[in-house]
Amino acid sequence: MTDQPSPATVAVWGGEDRYLVDRATQVPVVHSVSFGYDDLDTWQDVALGKQDGHIYGRNTNPTVAVFEEKIRLLEGGEAATACATGMAAISSTLHALLKPGDRVVSVKDTYGGTSKVFTDFLPPLGIEVDLCDTSDVDAIEASIDAGCDLLYLETPTNPTLKILDLERLSAKGHAAGAIVVVDNTFATPINQNPLTLGADLVVHSATKYLGGHADALGGAVVGREDLVETVYGYREINGATLDPMAGYLLLRGMKTLALRVERQNQNAGAVARHLEKHPKVERVNYPGLASHPDHAVAARQMRGFGGMLSFSLGPDLEPVRRFLPHLRYAHAAANLGAVETIVGPPATTSHVEVPEDERAALGIPEGLIRYSAGIEDVEDLIDDLDRALDAV
Ligand SMILES: *Cc1c(COP(=O)(O)O)cnc(C)c1O
Repeated sequence: MTDQPSPATVAVWGGEDRYLVDRATQVPVVHSVSFGYDDLDTWQDVALGKQDGHIYGRNTNPTVAVFEEKIRLLEGGEAATACATGMAAISSTLHALLKPGDRVVSVKDTYGGTSKVFTDFLPPLGIEVDLCDTSDVDAIEASIDAGCDLLYLETPTNPTLKILDLERLSAKGHAAGAIVVVDNTFATPINQNPLTLGADLVVHSATKYLGGHADALGGAVVGREDLVETVYGYREINGATLDPMAGYLLLRGMKTLALRVERQNQNAGAVARHLEKHPKVERVNYPGLASHPDHAVAARQMRGFGGMLSFSLGPDLEPVRRFLPHLRYAHAAANLGAVETIVGPPATTSHVEVPEDERAALGIPEGLIRYSAGIEDVEDLIDDLDRALDAV
């Protein structure tokens, strides 16, 4: 990987040569919990990190190490560490890097679980968290000016697909001395690389697009080596380790990441444009549409606009109730980023923890539907949506 291969090539080949045995062309799943040493000196050197190798599965594992190397290469980071889930990656990052007296600046539209860490788990530790209006960049910058040790961003957001200007906000965060962390789950490294836009760390729910088949949970933290080391040190002790079998499934999924995401970008774009013209659809949120308020920022920082969109059938849940059962090619489920199209209202997916009045305050009407475009034929998806909308 010396002459800068493109992401599609890295997705297939990246990190694979790190662990192949007996001339196998595919990475093996190593289930062994521990790794034995005949020689005490070698054992000690590996344990102290002076020599490459593995000691115990909660710390490191050969299959997981290949997953870490592949995501490191895809995001262009100095180092990467894997975690059991996306939330394990996010909560480990926040707990490892923050201390009492610190101040975090973030936005109201982060993933529901992340939001819960901000509102319920950090404040009792003496960590101040300010969650700004995601659409108000001046308010975010003013909050950074008021003191910021860690700036936590997510773009596009869930479920209204708001866009944050990563280059501008990373620069602002750094000027205040903050560590800048970006959740890149929705965009994927195919569409956006926050590290090249100024972020220090990228966090991922590998459960979504990286794995892509909705059959394995996982997470990753990628970026500055000193920071990744600190997060790894914490994760190794809290024990939220990526399971080797899940690591293997994620690796297998990642080989087709570029193919899938390119198709999902196309499908989501075509569906968004179609729905925008549909009389029964009140509003479509997709950063690739010219009507999106931050379309220009998205076009600047993203190579593709992603496979996620949302659309509203009005202020109430009733039309959603009638619409969903008529979709043939969509799972109604709390997930996203898989090869199958997945739909769900925020009330039962991303914002299940958030009361109805707070959802309304966040600009999330009960009639909103989050749509994760799969890799199906787009004409079939559009026909399916039209048929289901006829029932509304
Ligand atoms: C799903 C998701 C997470 C959490 O990931 P898990 O693997 O479910 O723990 C975090 N951020 C975003 C944007 C997500 O979509």
